[in-house]
Amino acid sequence: MVNCMTFISMGIRMLVNVEALNMVESVGNVIRHRTVPVIIRRSDGEYVMRWVPAISGECLAHAYQSYLAEQAVKRGLKVCYWCRKKEFIKHFDLKFYSLTSKTSGGEVEYSEEEQVLSEKYAGKREFTLEEIRDIEAKIIRACVVEDIGGFLVTQGPTKRTSRFYVSYAIPTYEAIEKGVVALDHQFMVRHAPEAEARRPSEVAAPAQAPYYPQVSSAIYAWIFNIELSGIGVSSVSGEKVLEDEEIERRRQVALDALAEMLDNRIFGAKLTRFTPFIDYEIIVAAISEGIRFTVSSPTLPLKQFIGETVERSKKAKQDTGAKIEIVIWCKDESIEKLAKEVVKDVEIVRSASVRDLINRVKEIALKGAK
Ligand SMILES: [Zn+2]
Repeated sequence: MVNCMTFISMGIRMLVNVEALNMVESVGNVIRHRTVPVIIRRSDGEYVMRWVPAISGECLAHAYQSYLAEQAVKRGLKVCYWCRKKEFIKHFDLKFYSLTSKTSGGEVEYSEEEQVLSEKYAGKREFTLEEIRDIEAKIIRACVVEDIGGFLVTQGPTKRTSRFYVSYAIPTYEAIEKGVVALDHQFMVRHAPEAEARRPSEVAAPAQAPYYPQVSSAIYAWIFNIELSGIGVSSVSGEKVLEDEEIERRRQVALDALAEMLDNRIFGAKLTRFTPFIDYEIIVAAISEGIRFTVSSPTLPLKQFIGETVERSKKAKQDTGAKIEIVIWCKDESIEKLAKEVVKDVEIVRSASVRDLINRVKEIALKGAK
C-alpha cells in the first residue's frame, strides 16, 4: 500500500524534582519559571483555575529537533547548516540564504538544493503552486529536521506543517487539585567579597551578585504525536519526494531521536546547575494505521488515562476499521499491577529503559508504515 497513514501518539507522565527546565523573563535578579493557567474540575464538581509550572511545547520540540539533527548527522543523513547548529531558522527567508552563501561572498556553505533554491526564488515574492511544491520538495531533500519538524518560508509563503506535535508538559489534574506541585525561589549568590570591594566605579556590573531562580517539582504529563507516514511526502501533492529507502531511514531516525531524548533525559534549560531528577511513571503509546488516533489526556487520573485510551481505541477500530495497537510502558511493578487492573488484553512492557518501548513502537509502526 502506498502511503497508508501511520500515526503514533504517546502520553507521557514523569515525576520531575527540582527542575528549572523552562525559564521565562528575568525581572531584576529573579528568573521566573514558566507558568500557565489550568482549569480543573474539583471532586465537588466546581471548576477552578490554578497557575502551575509548565514546560512549553517549543522547549520540548527544540530538544527533540536537536536530537533529530544529531542522530541524522551521525547516520549520514542530510541536515542543513543551521539545523546542525541547532538554530532552527528553517529557510525563513531565502534572501538570508542567498546573502550568507559562500557563492555570494558570505561564509556559509549551503547544499546544492539550497543554492538552487536561493538562485531561483530569493528575489521573488509571489509563487505559483508548482513553485511552492518545488520549494517544499527541495527543503525536504536538503534537511531531515525540516522534513520532520516543518518550516515556514516567509516568501510565498511556503509552509510545511511539522510531522510531530508536542503539548506543554503540565502537572496532572490530581496533583494540582491536591496541591502536590510547587514553585520556589532559590537564593543564590556569586560569592566574591574582595572583588566587590575592589570593583572600580566604572564597572557597572556587580562582582558579588545575588540571583533568584525559580525551581519547580511536579508530576508532569505531556503528549508527543508523530505522523510517520508524512515524512518525505509533499504536503502540496501528497506524493513521495524521496526514495523509499531514504524515507525508511528518516522514519527510523524520527523514533530513535525520541528514544535518545527520553532516555538521556537531557532537555530543557539550566541543566548545568539544575539537572532535574526525572523518573518516568508511565508512557502509553498508540500506533494507528488509517486514522490519527491520539491517546487520552495523560493529565487525567492514571486509571482513567489508561482505561479511556484503550476503550476509545477499541471503539475507533470498530467504527473506522483502522488498525490501532496500544503498548503501555512502565518501570514499577505497582504501576503494572494498576494497568492490569484497568485493562486486560493490552501489551505491557515493564522495564527500566524507555528505549524498550520505542523499540517496540518501531517494530509495530515501521512494519505498518511501509
Ligand atoms: Zn534544516
